[in-house]
Amino acid sequence: MDNYICTLCGSGGLEPGFIEDSGEHSRGYARWIAGPLERGIFGGAKRMGRKRWQIDAYRCPGCGHLELFGFRPV
Ligand SMILES: [Zn+2]
Repeated sequence: MDNYICTLCGSGGLEPGFIEDSGEHSRGYARWIAGPLERGIFGGAKRMGRKRWQIDAYRCPGCGHLELFGFRPV
């Protein structure tokens, strides 16, 4: 992972991190869910039965661009 290069400016040394989810009852990190967003009758996203992936976010020290990856199912 340490040899990633920023796709925007070409800098190396991307800093590993993640996208925080600070909402109530959240696990503290955001997840990527397979399939297009569909809303239920109360406006919330339908998520039942969907696969979820941890979002790994690498930050470019040069320009601040974030590279997002979904390696790990959760
Ligand atoms: Zn960059």
